[in-house]
Amino acid sequence: MARTDAIVLGAGIIGVSIALHLAKRGLSVALVDRRAPGEETSYGNTGVIEGNTLFPHAFPSKLGDLLRVALKQAPEANYHLSELLWFTPYLLGYRKNTQLEGSLAFANAMRPLFSRAVAEHEALMQESNATRYLRHDGWIKLYRSEEGFAGTTRERALAQELGLPHAVLDVEGTRALEPSLNPVFRRAVQWPAAASVPNPLAVTKAYVARFNALGGVVLKGDARSLHRPGNNWRIDTDEGPLDAKDAILALGPFAPDVLEPLGIKLPLAFKRGYHRHYKPVGNAGLTRPIVDVANGYAITPMEQGIRLTTGAEFARPLTPPTPVQFDRLMPAAKGLFPLGEQAEDRTWMGSRPCFADSMPVIGPAPGNAGLWLAYGHAHWGLTLGPVTGRLVADMVTGATPFCDPKPYSAERFNA
Ligand SMILES: Cc1cc2nc3c(=O)[nH]c(=O)nc-3n(C[C@H](O)[C@H](O)[C@H](O)COP(=O)(O)OP(=O)(O)OC[C@H]3O[C@@H](n4cnc5c(N)ncnc54)[C@H](O)[C@@H]3O)c2cc1C
Repeated sequence: MARTDAIVLGAGIIGVSIALHLAKRGLSVALVDRRAPGEETSYGNTGVIEGNTLFPHAFPSKLGDLLRVALKQAPEANYHLSELLWFTPYLLGYRKNTQLEGSLAFANAMRPLFSRAVAEHEALMQESNATRYLRHDGWIKLYRSEEGFAGTTRERALAQELGLPHAVLDVEGTRALEPSLNPVFRRAVQWPAAASVPNPLAVTKAYVARFNALGGVVLKGDARSLHRPGNNWRIDTDEGPLDAKDAILALGPFAPDVLEPLGIKLPLAFKRGYHRHYKPVGNAGLTRPIVDVANGYAITPMEQGIRLTTGAEFARPLTPPTPVQFDRLMPAAKGLFPLGEQAEDRTWMGSRPCFADSMPVIGPAPGNAGLWLAYGHAHWGLTLGPVTGRLVADMVTGATPFCDPKPYSAERFNA
């Protein structure tokens, strides 16, 4: 029987970062996925390493906004009527957790992770020979109304208190940084300490190459074969069965496929998102990711073109794609930036794995010795991959965790 110290299930940015951190500590590690690394949710995101994040994404609080979503007119959100009942407990919890008290609790609990996010990526990029992917120009959020901008007051005050750099810009100040933006907005907030990458897949692959160089192996296999015949965890791979004392589950939105048969039922929901790539018209260009907050989309310069990513769609991962938000947001997006023809004839879809408190689960699986969980990173999986890798490696090797992992524990759902 083949054996390693640890098996990491799932080779998205979370699993890859964990595998690399464990290999750096001298463990023999197998990284198992049914696809090639980085090709699922971690492939198509906006590429922002959001070290600046303080508050979770707000649930609409105004009746008008809720009505627009309910009537399927909102560019920022969509839902499937047939799945609404399934999503209701999540949506109620999400609404509660994004009011002021919940937002402050999130900011406090997540700061140890967000504050290290950019530095942890930079450290892995340095040893993976991938620093060429790191853009240190931050990102900009645009507000089309004074009212929309006023909604950021509390978060900016907290940023001030914590010394998190940010700059409030008017239209001219914003266009000095990004001259191709049309003046269809009123205000902007620039978060210069965030970073971004022009190809999230390439970054994940660079970390895999570093993992391989340290002796780590990548295997094809179905994580649903995970079981515990004795004292070890066992997984079936294309190379045969593999045993390890520790198994780390980093399957993103697919984690319930493995956990529920083991009797571990945590309330994971999904915010699906889509992207398309566009050619800019003429000499138009963009140097950093831009968010049009009112319309819930982002445009970001990628190697493939300008990537336009959509907001949330409340539907489960395997429900057929419904990219209707593009129709709703394209007039606004084209008004903001001269998007030309599509650079490739493809619409990508991924599912952000989300708990109602917007926090991931990182830590031991309840009642299953040697099984560890690292999933549910919602809007911030790219951001939090390397810092999650460090925290999991601390826990699995018995080192003192660099921060208190209690807020991310699966046990919080029993409280
Ligand atoms: C439109 C959009 C924009 C986003 N923008 C950003 C952003 O700018 N910044 C940011 O930080 N985050 C962003 N995110 C979120 C981020 O992409 C996710 O949080 C992150 O990719 C989750 O990573 P993961 O490794 O947990 O999951 P995944 O990348 O989905 O990895 C899970 C892996 O498990 C494998 N797997 C699943 N089931 C099995 C099985 N049965 N057997 C074997 N393998 C299996 C899959 O093949 C996959 O490789 C965005 C997400 C979306 C959808």
